[in-house]
Amino acid sequence: MDKQPSCADEYDPSSLDADLALQRILDRIRPLEGHVRLFLRESLGRVLDQDVLSPINVPAYTNSAMDGYAIRSQDLQGNDGTSLKVVGKAFAGHPFEGAIGSGECIRIMTGAPVPSGADSVVMQEHAQVNGDFINVSDVLRAGENVRHAGEDLSMGQPALLSGTLLRPADIGLLASLGIAEVRVKRKVRVAFFSTGDELKSIGEPLDKGQIYDSNRYTLFGMLYRLGVEMIDMGIIPDNKAEIRSAYEIASKNADAVITSGGVSVGEADFVKMLLEEMGDVHFWKIAMKPGKPLTFGQLQGSYFFGLPGNPVSAMVTFYQFVKPGLLKLMGIPPSPPLTIKVRSSENLKKRPGRKDYQRGILFQTAQGEWQVKSTGNQGSHILNSMSLANCFIVLPLESGGIKAGEWVDIQPFEGLV
Ligand code: AMP
Ligand code: MG
Repeated sequence: MDKQPSCADEYDPSSLDADLALQRILDRIRPLEGHVRLFLRESLGRVLDQDVLSPINVPAYTNSAMDGYAIRSQDLQGNDGTSLKVVGKAFAGHPFEGAIGSGECIRIMTGAPVPSGADSVVMQEHAQVNGDFINVSDVLRAGENVRHAGEDLSMGQPALLSGTLLRPADIGLLASLGIAEVRVKRKVRVAFFSTGDELKSIGEPLDKGQIYDSNRYTLFGMLYRLGVEMIDMGIIPDNKAEIRSAYEIASKNADAVITSGGVSVGEADFVKMLLEEMGDVHFWKIAMKPGKPLTFGQLQGSYFFGLPGNPVSAMVTFYQFVKPGLLKLMGIPPSPPLTIKVRSSENLKKRPGRKDYQRGILFQTAQGEWQVKSTGNQGSHILNSMSLANCFIVLPLESGGIKAGEWVDIQPFEGLV
């Protein structure tokens, strides 16, 4: 009889290497077609479906970078100082209409247009005011303290490319170009459900041998953060006919289907079996911990991800494999997760044979160095380890453990924006 793989095994020749598994997912997934036009504010968190070319020069006109005096650099004589007549002023929104001639200058504020004739701005701290005149002992290069028209972006140049996930800076940039609406990709629709006869929904009392379904809540949270449209199909019992009909409904209504549980090799684990029958299984085991059984495939027109039932495994496989896949489906070009090397402040246990995604706490030592420590018990059922963590500690397949003081790769959970 075949030896059945279980979560307890380390090296398993039929498990796919984690990096290869991600590559296979990315190779299979094609970005969605379909788009909508949205007002700028509504486009935050959406994915651009057009290259945005700048309709104007940015800045639109040459203006002052400082509060001071707009001058002609060739007038300045240096050492003995130069006396210039102040012939007017320009404030932001209130340009000086006219030109300045030899020996003249105007008072100018940051952002105000530099008048014709002038080519530089003397900082006000470097000018002595004397009635209608100023005295300047500096010499300036032409263009000093001046922002030139089109220096940021010139008209017709791409400001943002298709596939950009719009963040606050991006919608600000679009606003600076006077753009009120953009074309973004339509939202990805994701259907998900939990499988398991032991599962109960919150709000119902537990009978003996039952547990609350937490995976639908972590999934809701993770999918919400991605900004996809969700179809929560609830709990489906370990019953072939019911899972089959859930597959039919999910694949008719969604671009991607995510299940949890039922992907081990137990007697009631129908998830992979039914995917083989109704669609295609591309792979179903990854050499990783936690989360070895992850089924990836195709269910009619939808991509299919069968996550393991253990709550931590479900979250880790989601972040490492499903999320990159969904981002590609959303139209965002793939990029590796932010990974940083820090020292571990303590020993970390691991056996060779699988890539580990341990849950870690990144912290600052009294000396100011950022180091990482474990959240403690790394059992794949201990959801608290995810809740306490602020990063994954990623240990390569061949690693046999980490000694305190050694360098490890971490992936922070939170970014700045
Ligand atoms: P399975 O993959 O179905 O064999 O489940 C593995 C373990 O995860 C079992 O202990 C299940 O009870 C547990 N589990 C499965 N689904 C969920 C869920 N939705 N929420 C919490 N625990 C679950
Ligand atoms: Mg189960």
